[in-house]
Amino acid sequence: MTIVDGIPRTSLGHLPTPLEELYRLTASLGGPRLLIKRDDQTGLATGGNKTRALEFLVADALVRDSDSLITAGSSQSNHARQTAAAAAKCGLICHLVLQGEPPPGNCTGNLLLDDLLGARVHWAGARRLGQSMQALESELHRVGHRPYVVPYGGSNEVGILGYALGMEELHTQATSQAIRLNRVVVASASGGQQAGLVLGAKALGLEVGILGIAAEKRSAEAIPFMVKLARSGAQKLGLSLAFDESDFLFSEQYLGRGYARPGRAEWEAIRLLASTEGILVDPVYTGRALAGLIDLVRVGVLTPDESICFWHTGGTSGMFAWSDWLGSSELRS
Ligand SMILES: *Cc1c(COP(=O)(O)O)cnc(C)c1O
Repeated sequence: MTIVDGIPRTSLGHLPTPLEELYRLTASLGGPRLLIKRDDQTGLATGGNKTRALEFLVADALVRDSDSLITAGSSQSNHARQTAAAAAKCGLICHLVLQGEPPPGNCTGNLLLDDLLGARVHWAGARRLGQSMQALESELHRVGHRPYVVPYGGSNEVGILGYALGMEELHTQATSQAIRLNRVVVASASGGQQAGLVLGAKALGLEVGILGIAAEKRSAEAIPFMVKLARSGAQKLGLSLAFDESDFLFSEQYLGRGYARPGRAEWEAIRLLASTEGILVDPVYTGRALAGLIDLVRVGVLTPDESICFWHTGGTSGMFAWSDWLGSSELRS
């Protein structure tokens, strides 16, 4: 029995992902007991958190007899790349509506993988991604296809069920290892992962605090959207659970210069985790969330008596689009 029993699900990921101790990072910070949930190892064409959402979204598409998936994102979207891989695995056509223009040179990082995975890329330029997806959906219907639109970030009442189940997976692992987790720290962007974890924790009656570190949106926009998502997910599960803004611990203080504009804190966090644990995090999401976690330990908000799980949400393949910045001699000095 799980909290999502009865909801259609397609197996896409290598689950459960490992829950590991970060002994050497813990020692180097002299702080709380740190663990890591390895969703960079979900297995779908270099892994990542979106695989969890896609297990439910793709199942919904198959129930509806769709023949293609449409989704949207930035040109280096991890969500788009995992959607392309899920479509390939399930024999669906994948259309990706990406922000911006085709790159002038060869494609790299996630965009290279989108191409290898057989996705059809549509460049949206400066147009809003939502508008472009709708236009593409109508056009595909017109020519006789049966497209299914996966929302931005996979974040709707269907996708977040994957993260609710992920919370149950983490709880089962922690319990079997006799670990009582006080907090989970996770990168928050479209909000689906955090909303799903909060939904899962409430459905299971867990005390754990789930702290989202903003990678993209400010709290005024992010929190009301996550409240709505959690409510709609609970409804989908037939659970009468109440959610309000107080359920969402969220910090926008590490946004720096904004989405996908990392700075020194991310650069240092990436190098610290790599050199103490042999684990890679990316500049846009997980490096920023880890930089936030490290700062919260240093300033004493996260205290040495706690056990904290850093949820590694993936993004590693996006790193190769950042090799100039990662290797920058300016930051090295
Ligand atoms: C999408 C993504 C996130 C954020 O998840 P949301 O559900 O969009 O909040 C975090 N890390 C990585 C690597 C991602 O690709």
